[in-house]
Amino acid sequence: MATFYDTHAHLDYPDFAGDLPQVIERATAAGVTRIITIGTDLASSRRAIELAEQFPAVYAVVGWHPSHASEAPEDLRPPLRELATHPKVVAVGETGLDYHHLPSAKPEHTAADDQRYKQKQAAIFRQQMEVAAQVGLNCVVHQRDALDDVLAQMRRFAGKVRGVFHCFVNDAADMRRIVATGSVVSFTGIVTFKNAQGVRDTVKATLLDQFMLETDCPYLAPMPYRGKRSEPAYVKEIADLVAQVKGCSREELSRATCENAAKFFPKISPR
Ligand SMILES: [Zn+2]
Repeated sequence: MATFYDTHAHLDYPDFAGDLPQVIERATAAGVTRIITIGTDLASSRRAIELAEQFPAVYAVVGWHPSHASEAPEDLRPPLRELATHPKVVAVGETGLDYHHLPSAKPEHTAADDQRYKQKQAAIFRQQMEVAAQVGLNCVVHQRDALDDVLAQMRRFAGKVRGVFHCFVNDAADMRRIVATGSVVSFTGIVTFKNAQGVRDTVKATLLDQFMLETDCPYLAPMPYRGKRSEPAYVKEIADLVAQVKGCSREELSRATCENAAKFFPKISPR
């Protein structure tokens, strides 16, 4: 059986509280042999590590999501550094910049609030890349409507920290800007959605050594589960579609994407 990794899951979310052992069993049965669970703040990162300690197939990424930047401490580095040295922590994140939802969308907020919010996002993004560089890990990058600023920030860490631009939905031109810096992208169940031809075009243009697969569960369940809770087993459906778009076998896709993950997350153990 061709095996795959789910490189981006949120197993610590309450959606999985009732049946996580079964969720992981179903993933193993579907050939999804490694699951990377991603922290979105310090509490969630600690939970991610606990899950990695509990389940051999699970690895953790620790960090602070840009959408929660306002609640982040002024200096995230000391607690994050401590978590990032855990043997099963394979990257820092998810971090990055998200300009899609800004405070001024609500009437009580002004453009000055937007500016402060963006500055706080930038500050914790920089801190997370600093920690990543210090401990020798890469970053899981969340980016929305902010690609120029993300790439500008990452340039200062060129040669030290690479990024995986997760849940990638941009066009091939943006993908090429990213891979030119040594970073990679990853694709979710969105590739299976009827209205996502643009994303499939990007998949087609992305070389086999430049991307990974992920569910971003509990969100973004692929067809035929769209709208339901997603889970790591559904990487199988994503892989089927991606193999079809790439015109390669499931085995080829398995080999390429698992190798990419092993290179990007150096602390992950081989299958
Ligand atoms: Zn995520």
